[in-house]
Amino acid sequence: MNEIARQPKLLKDYAPPPYLIEEVELDFMLAPRAARVASKLRIRPNPKVATGGRPLVLDGEGLALESVALDGKALTPSDYELKEGSLTIPRAPAHPFTLELVTYCDPETNTALSGLYLSRGTYCTQCEPEGFRRITFFLDRPDVLAVYTVRIEAEREVAPILLSNGNPVAHGDIPGTGRHFAVWHDPFPKPSYLFALVGGRLAKVPDRFVTVSGREVDLAIYVEPGKEDRCAWAMESLKRAMRWDEERFGREYDLDVFNIVAVSDFNMGAMENKGLNIFNDKLVLARPDTASDADYASIEGVIAHEYFHNWSGDRVTCRDWFQLCLKEGLTVFRDQEFTGDTRSAPVERIAAVRMLKTHQFPEDAGPLAHAVRPASYIEINNFYTATVYEKGAEVCRMLQTLLGREGFRKGLDLYFERHDGEAVTVEDFVEAMADVSGRDLSQFMLWYTQSGTPELACSLDYDPHAKTARLSVSQVVPPTPGQTKKEPMLIPLKMGLIGANGDELPLKLDGKGVVNDGLLEITGREQVFEFRDIPSPPTPSLLRGFSAPVRLTVSLDPEQIEFLMRHDKDAFNRWQAAQTYATNLLTAASREGGDLSRVTGKEALRLAQALGQTAGDSSLEAAYRAEFLKLPSESDIARELARNVDTDAVRAARESLRRTIAGEIGSSLAELYEAIAPQGPYSPDPESTGVRALRGAALDLLVATGKPSALARAERHYREATNMTDAISALAILSHLDAPARDEALAHFYARWQDEPLVLDKWFAVQARAARSDSVETVRALLSHPKFSLKNPNRVRALIGSFVHGNPTGFNRADGAGFELLAEQAYEIDRFNPHVAARLLGAFESWRILEPVRQGRAKAVLEALARRQLSTDSYEIVTKTLGPS
Ligand SMILES: [Zn+2]
Repeated sequence: MNEIARQPKLLKDYAPPPYLIEEVELDFMLAPRAARVASKLRIRPNPKVATGGRPLVLDGEGLALESVALDGKALTPSDYELKEGSLTIPRAPAHPFTLELVTYCDPETNTALSGLYLSRGTYCTQCEPEGFRRITFFLDRPDVLAVYTVRIEAEREVAPILLSNGNPVAHGDIPGTGRHFAVWHDPFPKPSYLFALVGGRLAKVPDRFVTVSGREVDLAIYVEPGKEDRCAWAMESLKRAMRWDEERFGREYDLDVFNIVAVSDFNMGAMENKGLNIFNDKLVLARPDTASDADYASIEGVIAHEYFHNWSGDRVTCRDWFQLCLKEGLTVFRDQEFTGDTRSAPVERIAAVRMLKTHQFPEDAGPLAHAVRPASYIEINNFYTATVYEKGAEVCRMLQTLLGREGFRKGLDLYFERHDGEAVTVEDFVEAMADVSGRDLSQFMLWYTQSGTPELACSLDYDPHAKTARLSVSQVVPPTPGQTKKEPMLIPLKMGLIGANGDELPLKLDGKGVVNDGLLEITGREQVFEFRDIPSPPTPSLLRGFSAPVRLTVSLDPEQIEFLMRHDKDAFNRWQAAQTYATNLLTAASREGGDLSRVTGKEALRLAQALGQTAGDSSLEAAYRAEFLKLPSESDIARELARNVDTDAVRAARESLRRTIAGEIGSSLAELYEAIAPQGPYSPDPESTGVRALRGAALDLLVATGKPSALARAERHYREATNMTDAISALAILSHLDAPARDEALAHFYARWQDEPLVLDKWFAVQARAARSDSVETVRALLSHPKFSLKNPNRVRALIGSFVHGNPTGFNRADGAGFELLAEQAYEIDRFNPHVAARLLGAFESWRILEPVRQGRAKAVLEALARRQLSTDSYEIVTKTLGPS
């Protein structure tokens, strides 16, 4: 890669395209080594730009050009300039014209899985963000919207199914050739990143949906033949999502067909191409014996997410890639609301916040910190981040909190109505919200432009004579790379004051009446709120429902936190109180080398009793009780420590607290485990899922006692499992142990599932995550397992991804062996799939919080890697992670 390609692109340099492409006709002749693409583009100068004979520069990568014709007249090489990355026509007409191009690309050797490629014999495409330029020359940017007509021709034997976006308009045989064709037309103008094509030998699972206004839609899921029996859940999820989006957001589907295709080689989770979603098969295929409850839940969530993009992304799209959060943040928010409405709102909120804190908080605190809408990037592929997705969703949630559910819905309606068929910016979105609410949201815009997690410090002082409680709030947004000075943000702070008997006290604000919904708006660096008529010292419950993506510190003593974990009426904060209580013990013990006994006596036992009480409270949802039993993870603890982290001490502290808790409440956990054993056949419904989660969490804690009876129970759980959820949770528990039961279960699982790729991925992942001192060696041995391949992204994520992202103690091992393993494997993968390599290298992002020895080893490995020949993707991650030397 040359240095020019590595210059950052800047948001402030955005300029509209000098030409627009209004109609596209594509004609594909599919062939593995040379797929012929004839394209006919109707182009006109952009009336908003003074073009006056500007050159027309089309993007193109790795294409063989056969011919170019302008308004029917063939151009010779002297009429255009062809170089790697572009095709330029220096003297393009100042009036509308037609450009015809014939190019060839090579699907079979396309290992980057961007553009047109082959996945186990099926032709498929991935164009977001910049893959369309690997299919034909084009203005490959999201603000060029065109109506597409696509003809696909292939050998019927090889590709009996031929699909593209929009509605089917024609198909037929080409007599005497063994070939056939299909024509598709998409009436909705779309950017090139939403183009898709599929050709292959696939089985079709059909269904039907009637929209609220009576439009009949043919639904279909296409999978490898033989896997038809694993599509029912994905189809049900799709129909639920379609109905929900009508009811909750008034969004109706707009084409005659909606197709989903599952392929096994895919760089991401799934892609929302208009009318033709392409999925990693991991997020479609499910059967009780092959998929766990977690798989069922993520299939439901991702099917919904991609479907919701039909409006938030496809009908209204992004002007440029800096605005990626406009479609992703909003659509993640919509899929979270869907999951909350169809499953459990508090459990969904807990899951979303866990995800945010595990992936986004470290990003915000590290060298890769960037704003929800970044101002610059080198490689856009690197900006499909937790900040853009998860924090982007939190920003939408805050708007809903500030405007109310109805107000937010009105704002969204206006946004879709005003911008249908357009490519727009974050400003357009926020403006719609400001217009319906009459609010000035200019301070709120800082959420899109300032990086870093705001720190909110709160304290409550009670005055027994005046019967008032004063809440003092201060906010600081820490400096991040490239942003040293920060402005105070608008932070919605939901809160309550709880009286000694557990009752909510009315929040009467001095001089301002009662606070609605307990919502305070923090706008300054320092603010004080005085509540009156408070009869006795209250306990504050702050940031209810995690109303803003901030780090909260409150001066509460352990008794107050314990009070909240028993009495808070806000389900999220009740859970958060238990997490905070445990985190305080775990960080203190980690600082003492992991020795819990040096920092606590009775606190750990009080925590155990509170957890036991909640876990046994059958008036609460089982899934919620299960969340209570999961202690903060090793990465949660490391994040709270924030510096000088010794990952071995963190693991020791956590294991020690688990042992203490299990020792204290083991017998009630064992009773609970037996009492809720499910009867009857497996069902993925939320209630049964919750019960299995609660049993699994109880079993996991029980095994921490090390008692033979607990081990025997885990073995039995594995042996008697009638579904993948129970099998994999028992296997995960056993995988940490040094016991023959571990090896037997792993061998049994392998023997049973070695020919099922998605299930075998779980076998690799469980071993990579195991909390054992030899995990580096285990992963290294599995790299040369005959079933392992660096070429399949799912398998790479299962083994290497699970190790580097899901096993912090193994990855950060003091001798640097984990770092070396990642560096060498990512380097190999980088040579053919930069996207996947760069993602893995993101695991280095928190190296600066480690203690000095580990830091030194990580730095040395990163520096060595930076000296090697890397793709733009990996180069950006490695150099930014290292930071200025
Ligand atoms: Zn998305």
